[in-house]
Amino acid sequence: MKIIIVGGGISGLSAYLSFKKYLKTGTHTISIYEKHHSQLNATSTTNDGETTTSTFEELSSSGAIVGGGLGVSPNGMRILKELSLDLHDAVDKQGFRAEQFVFRSSRGWRLSSQPTSDRRIEDGEEVCVASSRHGLWQCLRDEVARVDKDILRYRKVIGVEMGDEAGSRRPRVLFEDGEEEEADLVVGADGVKSIVKDAIFGDVDAFKPVYEGMIGVGGFLPNSSLPPLPPCDANSMVFTFGPNGFFGYSPSSPDTTMWWSTCEAENIPATTRISTSDMQSQLKAHHEKWKDPTIKAIIQKADVESIYPVWTTPELPHWGKGGVILVGDAAHGLNPTSGQGSSQAMEDTKTLAILLERFMNQTNAGGRTHEQALSLPEAIDRTIRVLYEVRNQRIDKIVQRTKMMSNRKKEQGFVEEMVTCFFLWLIGKVPAAGKLVVGDVLKELYRWDVYAEIEIALKKLELDG
Ligand SMILES: Cc1cc2nc3c(=O)[nH]c(=O)nc-3n(C[C@H](O)[C@H](O)[C@H](O)COP(=O)(O)OP(=O)(O)OC[C@H]3O[C@@H](n4cnc5c(N)ncnc54)[C@H](O)[C@@H]3O)c2cc1C
Repeated sequence: MKIIIVGGGISGLSAYLSFKKYLKTGTHTISIYEKHHSQLNATSTTNDGETTTSTFEELSSSGAIVGGGLGVSPNGMRILKELSLDLHDAVDKQGFRAEQFVFRSSRGWRLSSQPTSDRRIEDGEEVCVASSRHGLWQCLRDEVARVDKDILRYRKVIGVEMGDEAGSRRPRVLFEDGEEEEADLVVGADGVKSIVKDAIFGDVDAFKPVYEGMIGVGGFLPNSSLPPLPPCDANSMVFTFGPNGFFGYSPSSPDTTMWWSTCEAENIPATTRISTSDMQSQLKAHHEKWKDPTIKAIIQKADVESIYPVWTTPELPHWGKGGVILVGDAAHGLNPTSGQGSSQAMEDTKTLAILLERFMNQTNAGGRTHEQALSLPEAIDRTIRVLYEVRNQRIDKIVQRTKMMSNRKKEQGFVEEMVTCFFLWLIGKVPAAGKLVVGDVLKELYRWDVYAEIEIALKKLELDG
């Protein structure tokens, strides 16, 4: 089978490693195409020290905004470990093991804390690893290069022609350099503004990414430049909520602290130019009266290094057809507040590879006689249908839960602010009450059994396993 992966981000690289791990039936040729050569942080600065401005569209699609930090939660860390122990350990080592989430109020109150460990429900233990996005991506890229150093190729995909659903015409990928390539399966791992998604759904407004009116800003500072944390907040990711926004920080490597905040920017037309210095002023105005000495130090010293406009994907009626499938942000761009962007992307690609192997096993290549065997397009079509059935419900739950938290990051009146504080205090003091409101988050997120979910989906779709 010939597989083309469009996009060499977290989803694309983990899709490749998952195919290598799970896809045993038949022989396969896999290619990954990525449009950006380098994804290093690159906030542009003019000679006189003023940061340049860019349009919203330029920023949203630019490789120059590589984002700041993210958390790989225990479910993501377990997938990394399954892919390769070396990969898992490399991510762990370059990042920071955040053993607890600490929730604070801008008024200086420590409201509650929550362990990130999955020890309560799983064998062994994983915790949330805080990392720069670049650090996680670099570890995946190194692991992919260890398997095949030439597999990741830098070419921009400008379109995809769909295969037909009967399987008589294969999908075709079109490149900026004028070349074209056919494959049996095209995996759209090309992020929230996915061109592969456009090929599947066409120009339908209901399926286009939605701008959430918020811009995530962030950066990194040496730990040595910040005041020491109180012992109760050591080894933590700290989330502080105030009447006029949100601020988060956490070490992201043994010697660096990452910080992030959100600036509201409603209804910015594509032509409006935004600048990092404006973001910087907004940040100071928002947080300078906040009590936490670490936040005070960060906003005094930090430059806005990354700008990440928050786009999400509306729920899609399916994730593919005709030999083309979406994974990761292309299928379900999540609000970063979920803390699950990279982990859910890896769950998608693991599920995709397991399903593909399962249905490949029902083709001739899996040893079935001609009468019993699925054709290759049938095996791919079943994979696509079952993947959606297995994954979409899980993503929807995460989206619903994230909406609750995300609203608390926007500007709030006094009453709303106190409700937020009370809620965050309550989940610490009376965990059962928290579970009643948001469910048993740790259990739901970390105890998700892909094999059991596949069985449920096969039954529902009345397909043979
Ligand atoms: C620049 C950037 C900054 C980010 N910053 C943050 C952040 O600060 N916080 C956070 O929580 N999440 C951030 N994310 C999102 C986070 O990485 C994802 O939620 C998660 O890792 C899932 O990733 P993904 O691989 O599905 O999508 P992405 O990480 O978006 O990766 C998609 C990849 O596809 C490539 N691509 C896109 N179009 C094409 C094309 N036409 N041809 C070839 N290649 C293409 C992109 O260059 C990119 O490498 C960022 C993503 C990007 C791309």
